[in-house]
Amino acid sequence: MLLSPYIIASFINQRLHISFHMKSTTSISDRVLNMQESATLKMAGLARALRAEGKNVINLSLGEPDFDTPDHIKEAAKKALDDGFTKYTPVPGLPELRKAISDKFKRDNNLAYSADQIVVSNGAKQSLANLSLSLLNPGDEVVILAPYWVSYYEIVKLSGAKPVIVTTDISTNFKANPEQLEAAITDKTRFILFSSPCNPTGSVYTQAELEAMMEVIRDREDILVVADEIYEYINFEEKHFSVGAIPFLKNRAITVNGFSKGFAMTGWRLGYIGAPEWVAKACIKIQGQVTSGANAFAQKAAAYALNAGLESTVIMKEAYAKRKILIMDLLNEIEGMIVNDPTGAFYIFPDISAFIGKKAGDFIISNDVDFCTYILNEAHVAIVPGSAFGCSGCIRISYAASDEEIKEACHRIKTYLEKLT
Ligand code: PMP
Ligand code: GLU
Repeated sequence: MLLSPYIIASFINQRLHISFHMKSTTSISDRVLNMQESATLKMAGLARALRAEGKNVINLSLGEPDFDTPDHIKEAAKKALDDGFTKYTPVPGLPELRKAISDKFKRDNNLAYSADQIVVSNGAKQSLANLSLSLLNPGDEVVILAPYWVSYYEIVKLSGAKPVIVTTDISTNFKANPEQLEAAITDKTRFILFSSPCNPTGSVYTQAELEAMMEVIRDREDILVVADEIYEYINFEEKHFSVGAIPFLKNRAITVNGFSKGFAMTGWRLGYIGAPEWVAKACIKIQGQVTSGANAFAQKAAAYALNAGLESTVIMKEAYAKRKILIMDLLNEIEGMIVNDPTGAFYIFPDISAFIGKKAGDFIISNDVDFCTYILNEAHVAIVPGSAFGCSGCIRISYAASDEEIKEACHRIKTYLEKLT
């Protein structure tokens, strides 16, 4: 029997109703309901949407190298495909990549992680999620040095633990000191988490600063340190120092790194950790149930990249160093903006609190989010509010962009800030 169009429509309505009912917000987990959307990815999405409307948007919101992956790495991936690297790999990664990472840690960082202590994942983001899910229980605390990368806070919360934030400001170039760290530590602290070079500020902790900070936890052998070193190769001043090289942290430091930034491989989704073996084993167990491991031919190319030297990485770093000078000079021309001096990564994190309370017509800029909204809507430049990184009153600008884009973006920001009353 043929159903009448009316019956079909009513059936579809019922189904829609049922599926709407089943997917109503009450059925989404508290975990997700309590989670903030990634502000960096959100701003990048808004910029894309405005562009799709035909607006000439300059996107300085996303922390992503504007360089393409170097050709020799792409060639290695193509060869790996042709050679049949198209199957699952062991969960923690291809043995040859784990060995290359272990060698890299020795060579570049004075860190002695054996290949068994390495876990390769789908981006450093997953490495951090594996770690939090492996180490944290509800009630535990993680001390996070702010400004921090957006996802630290939410990943820690996702595991049921409590992020404890150490706040800093531009007066110390956004670096924390041992007293602040000490004040944040309790008997519930499980680990300390920070990035150096830092996303979002570009600040780099020196060896002396890290040694002084770590003295605070020397005798607290139950506290681990998670050092996110994904911007290691984008360091304009001194040689990178890994906190795990401090002798008494040998069995307590977890070093997070990846291929996204130094090798311009964001879309390849490859990150890794070096960790005490018991931590690595826990991460492997989780990864075995959640993703099975990272992409096979990408891993093969990554092993090649690590052994092939840093020539392209250094060229990219030198370009970022020049752009840093350019953007600092241009931002310093804007009256009211206090500009920090980033010594690594490709971000700058100016203090814009002088603009809070100013008006554009009826629109009052009452915080850093309003500031970024105004700049996006009027100047068509996408940047990220500092509050997303635990530091309101500031903004993050990614200068992984061409000189022309940087010049035009700063010109527009200046022009629109001068219109405020
Ligand atoms: N840590 C920091 C500090 C970052 O900026 C990023 C950027 N996405 C990541 C981790 C994660 O990188 P990925 O997942 O691309 O390896
Ligand atoms: N790490 C980059 C950023 O901070 C990429 C986006 C993301 O993964 O959050 O913008």
